Amino acid sequence: MHDRERLQIAIVGSGPSGFYAAEALLGSALQIQIDMFERLPTPFGLVRSGVAPDHQKLKQPIRVFEEIARSPHFNFVGNIAVGSQITVKELQSAYHAIIFACGASNDRRMNIPGEDLKGSHTATEFVGWYNGHPDYRDRTFDLSQEVAVIIGQGNVAADICRILMRPVDELKSSDIAGHALEALAESKVREVHIIGRRGPVQAKFTTKELRELASLAGTISTIEPAYLELSETCNAELANKRSTVAQKNLEVFHCLTANVPDGSRRRIHFRFQASPVALLGEDRVERIRLVHNRLNGEPFNQCAIATERREDLSCGLVFRSIGYKGVAIPDLPFDPIRGVVPNMAGRVHADGVVLPGLFVTGWLKRGPSGIIGSNRADSLETVDVMLEDLSTTVPARAPGLEGVLPIIKRRSGRIVSLSDWFGVDAAEVQRGRKLGKPREKFTRIGEMLSIMSHQDEQGQPIGLSSTDTID
Ligand code: NAP
Repeated sequence: MHDRERLQIAIVGSGPSGFYAAEALLGSALQIQIDMFERLPTPFGLVRSGVAPDHQKLKQPIRVFEEIARSPHFNFVGNIAVGSQITVKELQSAYHAIIFACGASNDRRMNIPGEDLKGSHTATEFVGWYNGHPDYRDRTFDLSQEVAVIIGQGNVAADICRILMRPVDELKSSDIAGHALEALAESKVREVHIIGRRGPVQAKFTTKELRELASLAGTISTIEPAYLELSETCNAELANKRSTVAQKNLEVFHCLTANVPDGSRRRIHFRFQASPVALLGEDRVERIRLVHNRLNGEPFNQCAIATERREDLSCGLVFRSIGYKGVAIPDLPFDPIRGVVPNMAGRVHADGVVLPGLFVTGWLKRGPSGIIGSNRADSLETVDVMLEDLSTTVPARAPGLEGVLPIIKRRSGRIVSLSDWFGVDAAEVQRGRKLGKPREKFTRIGEMLSIMSHQDEQGQPIGLSSTDTID
């Protein structure tokens, strides 16, 4: 069958949800051609630029994604921003269906005075910086400060805390960006307060991540015993069989109450039932003002209510890690409160009216929750409804990539193909080998694009021109 006779599907975004959608499509009985559009020249989304460098095992899905990408019916179309360099309408005119798998690349705001003072940062910035994401590689963090505060108690907060506190020797053999390793080697951060607005039962850490954080070499973690005196409602929540993670977390927290901070070690303080109300300082963050909270509501629905009690905590760095939000794409419905594309099981709708041919998956569909593997089931659901829709109509032929290539060639400096990426990948691995790292990432788009036109050690082109592969 000629490629043009296949169902032409565009996937926007090359993170886990995009790849799991591609896997489901390629595994279906239908003849499908997939073109995966990605804003960056590099694929794999948060697996490349979100997963912490000291968690290399979590990057293993990349091997699966590479296999998917090697399918003869799959094109990687990198360095193309959907919404600006090509519009949703233009894609619609060339494809039978589009799956948006763009994740949630914005942070929720705290909406408090001083939030944008120097020294106050988002999780996205810091995570992107240490992972070498081109958008964040030039951010600077004043690591000469001794005290940092992290707002939020999820696994991203745990990642940030670990990277701040882990002995730099333990990061040297990871794929952490070189600029971050250098800066962290000079870090003077000695103390981190990791603050939750609710109690220890409601903390979102998974137990493995919490244990790891609480047992970092050269660091002592503490918790005030009073935080573990639970209310009746919290005890009821904890006793429920849905609360196995919270039960195990509580065991970890209890072990930390006996710890006494000493001057020789770095310190992590877990603090609860406090919310920031202002960041204070002349030119930069000097203090964070917290309001103490009480919890109110039924088990599993308790929310934090501010009390009269306030406290100022001196600190020179603040990281807000209170969850991510999706970003609106022009011509696609968007729910700005939840930061997702409104959908029914993956079918995009506007005010309840389904928009044929438009689908969504991953964090942009359900919000920023779950682990990498959670996206597999999510993408399967989206692909199932999509195939159901397409099976009820006999689609006319669609040109697919051929139809949009003239547009994207005009609007992109360089379209990046899969083999272009494999060239960059090989060069990163080669650079890393010399440093005892799995890879030394290129962190500037210009560097990546120039590598694509170079040759490998054998004198073979390591990056084919875009037209060699995707025409
Ligand atoms: P998360 O797990 O939802 O945690 C967000 C934290 O921010 C919660 O403690 C939440 O408290 C708090 N928060 C939200 N709004 C707040 C506000 N206005 N003021 C104060 N605190 C507020 O989100 P995440 O840490 O960004 O992680 C996103 C997803 O990625 C999660 O599913 C996570 O497990 C996953 N992830 C996994 C790994 C791993 O497996 N190693 C690593 C990183 C991320 P409330 O509970 O009170 O809302």
